[in-house]
Amino acid sequence: MFEGLYIHIPFCNQKCPYCDFFSVVGSPVGFGEYFEALLRELEYYRNLYGFSLKTIYFGGGTPSVVPPKVYEKFFHRLEKIIDLSRVEEITIEVNPESYTYRDFKPLREIGFNRLSVGVQSFVERNLKVLGRKHSVKHSLETVENAHLAGFENISVDLIWGLPEQTPDLLREEFKILKTLPVKHLSAYLLTVYEETPLHSMVEKGAFKLPSEERIEELYYTLLGETEKLNLKRYEISNFALSEAYQSKHNLLYWRLKPFLGIGAGAWSFDGKKRWHNVRNIRLYIDKLLKENSPPMAGEIILDEKELLKEAIIMGLRTTEGIPFEWIKGKLPEEVIKEFFTLKGDKIAFNDKGFLVSNSILSLCLSSTEWK
Ligand code: SF4
Repeated sequence: MFEGLYIHIPFCNQKCPYCDFFSVVGSPVGFGEYFEALLRELEYYRNLYGFSLKTIYFGGGTPSVVPPKVYEKFFHRLEKIIDLSRVEEITIEVNPESYTYRDFKPLREIGFNRLSVGVQSFVERNLKVLGRKHSVKHSLETVENAHLAGFENISVDLIWGLPEQTPDLLREEFKILKTLPVKHLSAYLLTVYEETPLHSMVEKGAFKLPSEERIEELYYTLLGETEKLNLKRYEISNFALSEAYQSKHNLLYWRLKPFLGIGAGAWSFDGKKRWHNVRNIRLYIDKLLKENSPPMAGEIILDEKELLKEAIIMGLRTTEGIPFEWIKGKLPEEVIKEFFTLKGDKIAFNDKGFLVSNSILSLCLSSTEWK
């Protein structure tokens, strides 16, 4: 049933002002106890559903605050619970200041074969603007050490749309990126989420976001730079050197395939229902290890119409797109012509469409055709 397994590691060394992921600073519980609870949760789902896992993804939080030894022990037990023989991709998110060559070596030996490095920027000034503690030097060392230790499939995250960022400053990022052995790029437009410190800073005028015109300039600069490096877009914010380096795990989300998410605050989807776990680490552990009960905090059952809407939202994030049939009659002809590309019976956003995809999706989902 589940093709993907997401494992949430909710520990961070600091809380970044723009981040709305569930995580806590430091480790209020021992890693051993948390990983024991993860295994217990997996056993629970193994008994309920079958697994035919193709991908495993450790996200956070900051999975790289956890020492490799903890992962070694975890995998030793994991292979007794689920069949890992058909797993093609095992990703771990890594922050630049965490691991050295000596940490990457055992991680590679355990079976991790993809790294996602939270670089965010290769420009020192931008790291300060984002409230990050690591330096550009840390990022370069991390990518190089991982590569030396045998990681071939390395992705980096960049954030763009920063205060006073010019197209030239964005090009600076790519001057450094092209010197690195990187096969995949996630380039996210800075988003201001409610209830984050960044949101209050923007409200008070202490953090000035670029104008819409500047965002558009930066967007086309980004597309030009990725093209020069042969990084092909396959999702609104994701680019890969070739299909082989696309994130297999994230593609499962965008194709609305069932996945299991374990850990405090994690979400899962079984094809009809989404559910999420308690967003409290102590409670998560106690539920599993003391009460022997699932740590679920809530669920949403989706009817057919809602499932189709989700499939549209997720599928239109990708360049592979969705069957045209799904949105036929729900958008004016001129909008389709201007912002989409038709490929056979499929439809996907074009470059112009991706830039304004949120407004077009709202228009499509509010169409009277849905009634
Ligand atoms: S951005 Fe990453 S490191 Fe920063 S608080 Fe969020 S999860 Fe932690």
